[in-house]
Amino acid sequence: MKYCFGIDIGGTSVKMGLFDTEGNLLEKWEIPTRKENDGEAILPDIAASVKDKIAERKIAADDICGVGMGIPGPVTPDGDVSICVNLGWKERNPGRELSELLGGVPVRAGNDATVAALGEFWRGGAQGCKSVVLLTLGTGVGGGVILNGKVIDGAHGAGGELGHIVVNPDETLRCNCGNYGCLEQYASATGVVRVAGRILASKPEQASTLRSIENYSAKDVFDAAKAGDAIALEAVEILCKYLGFATANCAMTVDPEVFVIGGGVSRAGAILTDGIGKYFEKYTPLLKTKAQFALATLGNDAGIYGAARLVI
Ligand SMILES: [Zn+2]
Repeated sequence: MKYCFGIDIGGTSVKMGLFDTEGNLLEKWEIPTRKENDGEAILPDIAASVKDKIAERKIAADDICGVGMGIPGPVTPDGDVSICVNLGWKERNPGRELSELLGGVPVRAGNDATVAALGEFWRGGAQGCKSVVLLTLGTGVGGGVILNGKVIDGAHGAGGELGHIVVNPDETLRCNCGNYGCLEQYASATGVVRVAGRILASKPEQASTLRSIENYSAKDVFDAAKAGDAIALEAVEILCKYLGFATANCAMTVDPEVFVIGGGVSRAGAILTDGIGKYFEKYTPLLKTKAQFALATLGNDAGIYGAARLVI
């Protein structure tokens, strides 16, 4: 049996999976992401963990076909990273470095959201489709585009960066990327909480269950909306509207069969897909057959599946 590793590097932990080359996940585990010193320890930590697993399972060096890796930032087709804010990395080629640390094992790296889209395409909510766009609604908003089975990463590694599509040019708050009015500012977990806060502040006379919850979360906002809370419903409506707007623009660019919605916020379920679908319908009169909206099914494992797929 041949093996490969799928690795998903996040800001707090590195998720790791051992797969066989049929694509079966044999084992998964996590190690902490040590971001101090510009994240210098991250790749050596990953290499050590991979070596430990190879030794523990007594896998022969010849039976390792490669390591795939998802990275939270833009990655060029050659695997170059110019900056990765979440890890503290500046210019480097993490795939080449990890390969050297592992004695020449082939390593391929890609953007984490693109890699997660590949996972959902291969083993999750978009199986059987040829063209799919994944939106990951978490702390930020990630995106991945697969067109006719091919990952679209663009000339500069920014292909599929759907979180930074501008949906509101009149926004006065700045996005993490330096721009104003990005999708991420409304459709991420932090975004929906902030939008709800804005509405609460603008309507001090209106009752809302959110007022009694200290440090309410995105889940609290969705739960309140499902219970009919008018302020929470308004925040969810804004999120759905901007997601409908962004996905409609995306459909006019790449016209996928399905949009897969993943990340922690996607646990809100049908209120989200129905809400986005309503605005998507409104903004795509040109499309006679509309793209479907589906929920991701691999959850937090989409990244390791997609990373493994990079080398299988
Ligand atoms: Zn942005």
